[in-house]
Amino acid sequence: MNDNEPQHSLLIVDDMTSNIQVLANALQDDYRIKVATSGQKAIEIANSDNPPDLVLLDIMMPEIDGYEVCRELKSNPKISGIPVIFVTSLNEVDEEERGLNLGAVDYITKPFHLPIVKARVRNHLSLKLKTDLLEELSHIDGLTHIANRRHFDAFMSKQLRRTQRSAQPTTVIMIDVDFFKPYNDNYGHGLGDDCLVQVARGMRLVIKRPNDLLARYGGEEFAVILPETPLDGGLQVANELHQAISELNLKHEFSDVADHVTISIGVATSVVTDDAQVQALLKRADAALYQAKHNGRNQVVIG
Ligand code: GH3
Ligand code: MG
Ligand code: MG
Repeated sequence: MNDNEPQHSLLIVDDMTSNIQVLANALQDDYRIKVATSGQKAIEIANSDNPPDLVLLDIMMPEIDGYEVCRELKSNPKISGIPVIFVTSLNEVDEEERGLNLGAVDYITKPFHLPIVKARVRNHLSLKLKTDLLEELSHIDGLTHIANRRHFDAFMSKQLRRTQRSAQPTTVIMIDVDFFKPYNDNYGHGLGDDCLVQVARGMRLVIKRPNDLLARYGGEEFAVILPETPLDGGLQVANELHQAISELNLKHEFSDVADHVTISIGVATSVVTDDAQVQALLKRADAALYQAKHNGRNQVVIG
């Protein structure tokens, strides 16, 4: 690649090519520009092997509008981190609120002042790159501020080395929020994020022993490692987690099992002395979680 070539790419989405042209002219010196003239095409490009670093998204488009495109992007954890800025002639505050609640980072109204558009794009992109870097370097999940998957894996390796000497049982608890897709789809990705923060906070009040670990395992899944804990103790913690989240009483009108947010839980315990046994333990907890979902959700199952 030529050194002078811009490193980062923007996707400009608008059904009016003249609008795309104005923005592309202003931004093409600093970014690689991709364009889409329909919501469908925008979703395709975002899902491709070469997704953009930021999206400028028109709201009013035939067929799939900007809100729908934003919701679609934010519902896919692989691409939900791409910042979306709405660019639109709508300037009603409730439209703006709706856009921001769907997880957009900003909102620019037409007719726009190009230097401001450029500055906002630059700021949001720089924030995004910093967030990505920090998350990569850290063992903390950027959204919920509990341990991330990488920390979970490292902690588990350490635990394995410990139990190779002590032969004590380790309990693993896998947790998944019930009906979270309808939560996001109906309340918006922003409130979905808030919900995950609340759920993590609620569980942190239960997992308070210094040797235990609560982590965000991915998306709306969490996991707990309880070192030196037999099944009965682990089951008790799992039941406390289950009850604590229920008692948060976070409204969820689109769940089929309750009027508030609930979780399903799988628990498994074993003495692990090699990596294959660790994998088997995780698999058993995961299978138990699957069984809890299968049994109707909002419950704890032992694997
Ligand atoms: P089930 O009860 O079977 O678990 O159903 P579900 O709808 O919870 O599960 P599904 O796997 O179908 O959907 C999970 C949803 O979680 C889809 C995805 O958009 C959302 N999600 C994953 N990560 C995040 C996130 O970081 N923030 C938000 N807001 N949503 C997320
Ligand atoms: Mg779920
Ligand atoms: Mg899930």
